[in-house]
Amino acid sequence: MSLGKSAVIPPGSTIGILGGGQLGRMLALAAAPLGYKVHVFCPDAEAPAADVSARWTRAAYEEEAALDAFAAAIDVATVEFENVPAAVLERIARTKPTRPSAAVLAVTQDRLGEKELANRLGIATAPFAAIASEHEAREAARHLHGRGVLKTRRMGYDGKGQVGIPQIGPETLTAAWEQLGRAPCILEGFVDFVFEASVLVARSPDGHMTSYAPIENRHADHILAESLWPAVLPAEASEKAEAIARAMAQALDYVGLMAVEMFVTADHRVLVNEIAPRVHNSGHLTIEAAITSQFEQHIRAICGLPLGSVERLADAVMVNLLGEAAHDWPKLLADPTAHLHLYGKSEARAGRKMGHVTRLHPKGSIA
Ligand code: AMP
Repeated sequence: MSLGKSAVIPPGSTIGILGGGQLGRMLALAAAPLGYKVHVFCPDAEAPAADVSARWTRAAYEEEAALDAFAAAIDVATVEFENVPAAVLERIARTKPTRPSAAVLAVTQDRLGEKELANRLGIATAPFAAIASEHEAREAARHLHGRGVLKTRRMGYDGKGQVGIPQIGPETLTAAWEQLGRAPCILEGFVDFVFEASVLVARSPDGHMTSYAPIENRHADHILAESLWPAVLPAEASEKAEAIARAMAQALDYVGLMAVEMFVTADHRVLVNEIAPRVHNSGHLTIEAAITSQFEQHIRAICGLPLGSVERLADAVMVNLLGEAAHDWPKLLADPTAHLHLYGKSEARAGRKMGHVTRLHPKGSIA
């Protein structure tokens, strides 16, 4: 079998997805019309992705025999969850292509590595300092001033593993660090942004790239509440944001679709916050609003197929259905303009992503 970088994984093959959440579910649904089968690997008792896939291996990521059997049963592996241990991809890569690679996950699982990569490429971020000791905390407090955010370097998402600091100083910083269990952290200066945006970029094994125009993201309690497409940005800033995402995908030798989350300031500066090495919540609206959805684009990219058009067919607003908001499905279905997506999760815990709804608007009505 060839593990050549540009090898095409033809329709009829089996795509292995690590992680069993809603992103995997929508990937599997996008793989089907192209003739692929999906095999999900995840440890969870409930797996929205497995509900719509041909096969499911329910096992811990540490179970090597289960991973080897999974690798033997698939033609290419991908992830729908960025905290899959990089070692899992390394093991699968012994026999099957993994897209993205273990090396990509090793960078994107560490907030420090991600920001250093951006700065090496000349891309702006919030000012930051690494903190792993009392000494580094004192040094950081000498260099960064005013409001800040302390974040654990690893395993943070949806605002978890971070503490806001109203006024950076040796005491406030040490207290925040204690709160995060003295884990290795990154201290960031607070960015006074006017909105957040994401750019979805897809890259093929041969280096070909497409990027969707920026999407605006609105958060509530650190969780994405709403996305709007297109983001209201002057053409120059929009092009800059896409160029940033492409430069990062290229530098990572990324294969597949990834999201770059950014802050946009009042003077239209674009700063990178983080990379999601997977399809992204903000891109759900591409299912209805673009010629090619982010999910289909990811499948095309990891299988070495030609990438589809990222042209926007309509303006769009996507609203996440968190917790009990999903119980409003009868009302949403009664609205003939609402595209409702429910993920089939049984328990509507507060803040849990249960589904989303997308509404299209005439092109030009948002921006
Ligand atoms: P993150 O986990 O890095 O995506 O952060 C979650 C959210 O916290 C972001 O989407 C922002 O709304 C906010 N945030 C994170 N870092 C900063 C920062 N340096 N300055 C201002 N807001 C931030």
